Amino acid sequence: MNSIEPVPGFIIAPQQQVSVPVRGTSDRFPVHRIYCVGRNYAAHAVEMGHDPDKEPPFFFQKSPSNLVTDGRDFSYPPATEDVHHEIELVVALVSGGSNIPVAEALDHVFGYGVGLDMTRRDIQAELKRMSRPWDAAKAFEQSAPCSEIVPASQIGHPERGAIWLKINGEIRQEGDLDQLIWKTAEVIAHLSGLFELRAGDLIMTGTPSGVGSVHRGDKLHGHVEGVGDLTCTVV
Ligand code: MN
Repeated sequence: MNSIEPVPGFIIAPQQQVSVPVRGTSDRFPVHRIYCVGRNYAAHAVEMGHDPDKEPPFFFQKSPSNLVTDGRDFSYPPATEDVHHEIELVVALVSGGSNIPVAEALDHVFGYGVGLDMTRRDIQAELKRMSRPWDAAKAFEQSAPCSEIVPASQIGHPERGAIWLKINGEIRQEGDLDQLIWKTAEVIAHLSGLFELRAGDLIMTGTPSGVGSVHRGDKLHGHVEGVGDLTCTVV
């Protein structure tokens, strides 16, 4: 038996910690989990064929290893002909817990970023039709491009402000954080009733209307007013 053990105590080399840059420091934000909120802007719920009335939020996850950071490219994934962009405000937690009250939720926020919830829309449509889980549509390689995290100590907790996405300079998605159905604090409170939140968790808070396809060569530029920018090229 030909067995090589490069790191003592491990059968294979342990995974490297995934992390995101932080504005104003060379220290990075280590990522534990990535939670995503579905249908959190009424206009997007309508464009996807759903009722915009306020119903309890629902969540799915991406893997931390799906992150694309530090301005890297997004590689067009296999098994799809319809990858969609979803520009989102990202929340980064500095602490966590279970059953966090809304009034205390923002105390757990380290900062905010700009993210893309890239989605294999054709696969998602099939999964919805079959009442199957969304993982194959949402948690594929490089499905989570993310900007640097900006500490709340620098920018506060944004409740309003433009959120938009341009492709090759042309506006495709446009909304305002004040259109979020479930606000950041409410999202944290709901999530913490389902999962034990931890320092290092990221939350993608949902996308405004205007989602659509990306193609190789596209230059994506996302912006959240008061937070920052994310640029990413589809290759
Ligand atoms: Mn989304």
